[in-house]
Amino acid sequence: MRHRIAVVGSGPAGLTFARVLHRHGHPVTVLERDPAPDARPPGGTLDLHAGLGQLALAKAGLLEEFQMLSRPEGQAMRILDVDGTVLRDWRPRPDDRANPEIDRGQLRDLLLGPLDVQWGRGVTQVVPGTRDGVQVHFADGRQETFDLVVGADGAWSRTRPALSSVTPHHTGVTLVETSLDDVDTRHPDLARLIGDGSVAVYGVNRALVAQRNSGGHVKVYAQFRAPLDWHTNLDLADTEAMRASLSALFDGWAAPVLELLRHGTAFAHRPLYVLPASHTWAHVPGVTLLGDAAHLMPPLGAGANLAMIEGAELAESIAGGPGDLDGAVRAFEEQMWARAGRWAKITMAGLERLVSPDPAAALALFDEVQAS
Ligand SMILES: Cc1cc2nc3c(=O)[nH]c(=O)nc-3n(C[C@H](O)[C@H](O)[C@H](O)COP(=O)(O)OP(=O)(O)OC[C@H]3O[C@@H](n4cnc5c(N)ncnc54)[C@H](O)[C@@H]3O)c2cc1C
Repeated sequence: MRHRIAVVGSGPAGLTFARVLHRHGHPVTVLERDPAPDARPPGGTLDLHAGLGQLALAKAGLLEEFQMLSRPEGQAMRILDVDGTVLRDWRPRPDDRANPEIDRGQLRDLLLGPLDVQWGRGVTQVVPGTRDGVQVHFADGRQETFDLVVGADGAWSRTRPALSSVTPHHTGVTLVETSLDDVDTRHPDLARLIGDGSVAVYGVNRALVAQRNSGGHVKVYAQFRAPLDWHTNLDLADTEAMRASLSALFDGWAAPVLELLRHGTAFAHRPLYVLPASHTWAHVPGVTLLGDAAHLMPPLGAGANLAMIEGAELAESIAGGPGDLDGAVRAFEEQMWARAGRWAKITMAGLERLVSPDPAAALALFDEVQAS
């Protein structure tokens, strides 16, 4: 008999899990709170590592399509001093496919393919151990029961409380995101500054990163150390006020760098939260977690990659195993905890160096990564 499997969330973790199960002919119910795939902006670009995100796509049979959509040239990285001096300018070799970039929206559509996601199905609670299996409670008051519920519902997971009482805590770093459109036509100087990939500027306890997405779209991330209530007297929805406030925070930085903030079209406030690096839980039959729900970490290029490889591995162990669902989940959890724990430590230490009192620490980190 086929197991009744549900995954909560249609981010990189949930969709990769569902797509690999689907490839193996195993039915899966995908429950997503958003009312439609394009209900909110999908976010910026993601670099998918050969041994993680790309491997997951290979397991889903989607690597070739990814290679056609992704941007290897997006691996280019330039680092500037706050006075605008170029400190490093790395360009990928033409055949370098180690970490190509892809827009999140493109990745979502690639993974969605034939999947039949149930949109507008916000989960409020997951209750394991009932007579008929694991109960899922929905925001509209309905309930459904499954043999396995996989929580891939991100940082503020509603599945996680079924396994763990741990909640995310603030890192002390806040990120404010803004965007530039048609950068090559409307802001050619900024387009040259950014190049084919990213430009990053590191100052004292502050960083500014601009990343090219496809179609001339650029995401700009201002990062700084500040308490959670730093914006008490600021209307976050007021674009002019946000431009002025951020320009003041980055006061003294080179004019061309500050132009990245002055032309920002809308601002999104994203304080950076993490789960403890060693987050594990006592195994509970019928429920598990993937991706940010299991191991939220600083956004240093690992989260989506881990989410995807975990989704693919759990799906393979369920579909390819001897039918012992609980055994497959237990084995998966051990593997996930070990790998995610390592990455959580790396990214947390990385954040400390990238948004630090000593900008030379950030440069040294990039030199180490480029040399490895
Ligand atoms: C600015 C920024 C840049 C980043 N850059 C990178 C990068 O370059 N590379 C990288 O690997 N990672 C990157 N990350 C991290 C990456 O975005 C996350 O680790 C990744 O999205 C986690 O995927 P996920 O599927 O676990 O969760 P999410 O992407 O958060 O998806 C969760 C899904 O669950 C749904 N959901 C939530 N609650 C419920 C509910 N109650 N009921 C039903 N559905 C629900 C949500 O709507 C969403 O669709 C970045 C993060 C940030 C903030």
